[in-house]
Amino acid sequence: MAEKINAVKGMNDILPPDSARWEWLEAIVRDLMGRYAYRNIRTPILEQTALFVRGIGEVTDIVEKEMYAFEDRSDKHGQAEHLAMRPENTAGVVRAVIEHNLLYDGPRRLWYTGPMFRREKPQRGRYRQFHQIGAEALGFAGPDVDAELILLAAALWKAIGLTDVRLELNSLGQPAERALHRTQLIAHFEQHADKLDEDGKRRLHSNPLRILDTKNPAMKEVVESAPKLMDFLGAESLAHFNGLRAILDANGVAYTINPRLVRGLDYYNLSVFEFVTDRLGSQGTVCAGGRYDDLIVQIGGKAAPAVGWALGVERVLELVKEQGTQIPLPVPDVYAVVPDAAAMPVALRTLQQLRDAGVRAQMHAATVDGLGSFKSQFKKADASGAAHALVFGADELARGEVTVKALRDGGGAQTTRPLAELATWAATLQSSAPNN
Ligand code: ATP
Ligand code: MG
Repeated sequence: MAEKINAVKGMNDILPPDSARWEWLEAIVRDLMGRYAYRNIRTPILEQTALFVRGIGEVTDIVEKEMYAFEDRSDKHGQAEHLAMRPENTAGVVRAVIEHNLLYDGPRRLWYTGPMFRREKPQRGRYRQFHQIGAEALGFAGPDVDAELILLAAALWKAIGLTDVRLELNSLGQPAERALHRTQLIAHFEQHADKLDEDGKRRLHSNPLRILDTKNPAMKEVVESAPKLMDFLGAESLAHFNGLRAILDANGVAYTINPRLVRGLDYYNLSVFEFVTDRLGSQGTVCAGGRYDDLIVQIGGKAAPAVGWALGVERVLELVKEQGTQIPLPVPDVYAVVPDAAAMPVALRTLQQLRDAGVRAQMHAATVDGLGSFKSQFKKADASGAAHALVFGADELARGEVTVKALRDGGGAQTTRPLAELATWAATLQSSAPNN
């Protein structure tokens, strides 16, 4: 046998029956996005590396260490493009919005889903290929649309039965307000430089705000005693923040204000928020979002405000599993038992009619060992989860009938039905999908 080739480290296969969870979540998300009037957008996985350098920031872990970036082969002019697999999708969405002038006739609400790539240390809730679902509202100044996005996320948790997520909120104000805060923040950390870890020291002058979201417990005290950005906000920024809070309050959405909730880059401003859980260890952020009013300009577009969030599909599904939420598994309504290959033409024609009528029908197909015994076929029918077995036996077929045997609810009940009426009967079946 040839040597085995395995998947790339940190990149997962999503297999049945687990893939049913993904389909379940995707269907709920698609429906919900429609209810909030967000339209789907699909951008390429590969983009110019420069897009992410500008769109995420040069001094971020993602761009410095985690991006799958490479030089493409040269084209016929000897030019090679620097390309990267998207580590997130906001930059790609903004690029597409600019490139296609999507804001020409007013603002846009967009959503996406798909794989993202970051070369991180693989562990529970942290993979090298992972998936995000994201929503972006572009051209709206907020805070009403900020609130809408948070309400949308909260509605999703409700729709999938998640109860163990809480909302944390902060405001980053505007760049000028942050500049004031930054000076005092650096002074504070310089005063306590002995308490900073390697990363902290490195960020002290490049990106001191990021020190605040350290995951190092040893730095808890020095971070908690740091000057709070909120105290540096002017009247307009505070009004925006309070506007958001008022809408959340009116909708009964609970939140805590977390002054350590930050983003390290200058184009982020005003609202930042995260939905977090304690049930996934240190990978507790399931959804992160906020305003990025200056990003569109940064990427070369005409100034327009924007806000959005992205959730980690793996983490959300892990939490769904953790909570023991019951997911409907896809099962056939009927399973065709075909004792003799001679019956196949009729069996398949009949199953086609059932499927045309919306019935989920699984046919028993031959393996290298043939069709198998009547008994083994029934075992397969049972294991498929189907509510009924249809037996295409020679005797029944000769009379223009099939045998219908109930497999669930005690099972055993058996009748015969005319082939010609089978589709009409089957279409009335209540699909009895058992839960996993
Ligand atoms: P974290 O602090 O957990 O590294 P992040 O700040 O890098 O997250 P974002 O870039 O804001 O995350 O992405 C939004 C969401 O995507 C995260 O809240 C998380 O749920 C998910 N996510 C991010 N990186 C990964 C990963 N490597 N594997 C799985 N999910 C991820
Ligand atoms: Mg990260």
